[in-house]
Amino acid sequence: MSLAGKVVIVTGASSGIGASAAEAFAKQGAKVVLVGRNVENLKATEAVCKAANSKAELLIIAADVTTDAEKIINSTIERFGQLNVLVNNAGVGGTGSILDVDVEEFDRLMNINVRSVFLLTKYAAPHLIKTQGNIVNVSSLVGLRSFPNLSVYCTSKAALDQFTRCIALDLAPKNVRVNAVNPGVIVTQFHKNLGMSAEDYAKFLAHHSTTHALGRVGEAQEVADAIIFLASDSSSFITGATLPIDGGRHAMCPR
Ligand code: NDP
Repeated sequence: MSLAGKVVIVTGASSGIGASAAEAFAKQGAKVVLVGRNVENLKATEAVCKAANSKAELLIIAADVTTDAEKIINSTIERFGQLNVLVNNAGVGGTGSILDVDVEEFDRLMNINVRSVFLLTKYAAPHLIKTQGNIVNVSSLVGLRSFPNLSVYCTSKAALDQFTRCIALDLAPKNVRVNAVNPGVIVTQFHKNLGMSAEDYAKFLAHHSTTHALGRVGEAQEVADAIIFLASDSSSFITGATLPIDGGRHAMCPR
């Protein structure tokens, strides 16, 4: 599938990896649906997409993925008449040892990172079958590897990885592919939203240049490039894959 003219939903397009993915799809000539809660930020992404491709057709849907999944799919079909690619990128992190973390935090993360993906996938699937489209989920290295003080976030992304594989099998007979990317540390608002100060974030990034084999953390655009690859015909025989975009961090073991 060439991406020109294809209709692509990107959740969490108002920031970071989602904003970069939206820009990359716009550059490819796709019609991009920008989903997020922060309208000002969505408009900023819209401007970036327009700068990348002045002819890009764009639709902003201000929505919360936990409550508005059906509206997101219906509004897309109303506007563009079809859906070719669903990028489930919206997500949040959360820290805390099992001794501290409470069930409200568990429910919050599972709701945003897993339940919303289930709902969006369910509503999108009939439309993706019609177009022989595909799904790309934005998981994390923490879905593939385990870390202390991150149990709920790790569990939500491991669930997303398993969901990716299971739905890939459900939809393979319909020729709809489903894959995930598993980024390492990527420079976005994500960690600052966890409450890190600018100073702590600088230290965090410096430390993580040593935990990724390539000796640096990643950029949102590097994840966007992988999303484009998995959404396009270049990956026509790939489904059920969880692809680390992590400078080799998944292959490392502390010494
Ligand atoms: P950002 O914090 O920069 O962006 C998160 C995006 O998710 C925002 O656009 C936000 O939009 C959206 N979002 C969060 N909750 C909701 C909601 N309830 N409804 C709609 N949109 C929502 O982080 P990243 O770009 O880094 O994160 C994107 C994905 O990448 C996440 O799934 C994250 O887990 C994953 N990831 C990130 C890594 C990193 O190091 N940065 C590493 C591995 C994975 P708004 O606020 O407008 O609602």
